[in-house]
Amino acid sequence: MPSQRIPTAFTFLFFISTCARGSLTPPEQQIANYVAAEKDANVELLQQLVDMNSGTLNAPGVRRVADFLRPRFEQLGFTCRFIPMDEVQRAGHLVCSRTGTHGKRVLLIGHMDTVFEPSSPFQRFVRNGDSATGPGSSDMKGGLVIILGALDALKKAGALEGTNITVFLTGDEERPGEPLSVARRDLIEDGKKSDAALEFEGGVQTAGHDAASISRRSAYQWVLTTTGKTAHSSGVFGKNVGDGAIYELARILYKFDTELRESGLTYNVGVAAGGTTASYDLATATATASGKVNVVPAQATAAGDIRTVTDEQYKRVCDHMQQIVSEHLPGTSAQIEFKEGYPSMPETAGNKELLSELNQVNRELGLDVMEPFDPSHRGAGDLSFVAPYVASISGLGAYGNGAHAPGESINLARQTDQTKRVALFLYKLTR
Ligand SMILES: [Zn+2]
Repeated sequence: MPSQRIPTAFTFLFFISTCARGSLTPPEQQIANYVAAEKDANVELLQQLVDMNSGTLNAPGVRRVADFLRPRFEQLGFTCRFIPMDEVQRAGHLVCSRTGTHGKRVLLIGHMDTVFEPSSPFQRFVRNGDSATGPGSSDMKGGLVIILGALDALKKAGALEGTNITVFLTGDEERPGEPLSVARRDLIEDGKKSDAALEFEGGVQTAGHDAASISRRSAYQWVLTTTGKTAHSSGVFGKNVGDGAIYELARILYKFDTELRESGLTYNVGVAAGGTTASYDLATATATASGKVNVVPAQATAAGDIRTVTDEQYKRVCDHMQQIVSEHLPGTSAQIEFKEGYPSMPETAGNKELLSELNQVNRELGLDVMEPFDPSHRGAGDLSFVAPYVASISGLGAYGNGAHAPGESINLARQTDQTKRVALFLYKLTR
């Protein structure tokens, strides 16, 4: 039998501190209430989205998700257009916007695709109480539901009137079409026309507390190829033969490993091959080689990535790599090619200002004050393409675990908090 509750000093103090934190204005409280009222409906919406396969290469599936979302944005007063991306062999992007007279021009960035193609055994949404598993559940169909939930609450509160908001949902975030200059052309154009960009990739935490990304590292690829003189192996190191392509490849990779390291930088070698013939296919990240143990190898190749905190760091490290590549062992030559990729998103004053405005919302809602997330712990994203032009922040999506692997999950219990946070953040930005 429960004992009678007597207010103690502790509960009294708790009450005071809760009051001090929670200071929503009546319209803000109304928006928060509208969000909370849609909790169950939003789980249903998420289930419908997750059960619709939209692996990046499943273009009809991605378009089905766009067709499903489009009327929902139109109901909220947005005008939508679908931008086909056939020229880069991808489904395309859904862009919904509304123009108004006041507040910041806000760009909301998300993606409709997932890493789970129709061939994956992981296809369905399965709820287990306060969490659920499903392909793309937290990365990032949960984020799509947060966007819709926040806009819906603002609409009900009459707070969408007069606002400038564009929702840009790419169809190929997980495996962007190439060239990126085409695949991200329209996103960049919308970024240039905005004052603030908010990305809805999975929410992040530091030591159990909600965090936000206001800087992200770049992600580029490089492909290294070396050549040597083919000959009988007994002649290796000789004046007329030299060291062969594989020793040259090994020399370069060893120098990368030992000479380039610095704070904020990583560079991985993902694949390597060498022999009498060797080649690398960028589209499938496959290296193939054939040779004989008694033949000096004529060709070798390796491919990897490079991630930096600033573009200056990227250029400087590229120059250093280039210089290492150019020093050849006897009888060999080498070349490195840097491919287009995601630019870095440095921590700018504008990004910090956005985070402090978001933290004002967090204080009012009694949620964690979000610290900037360490950029070395997360990958690049679509936000990076617009970050050079507009104040940018990420970390407003769904909380979950195991993104990109079968069993990926979403913490449903956090969806309402996150949606309130986004709704009130948008409310402040668009006043
Ligand atoms: Zn994602």
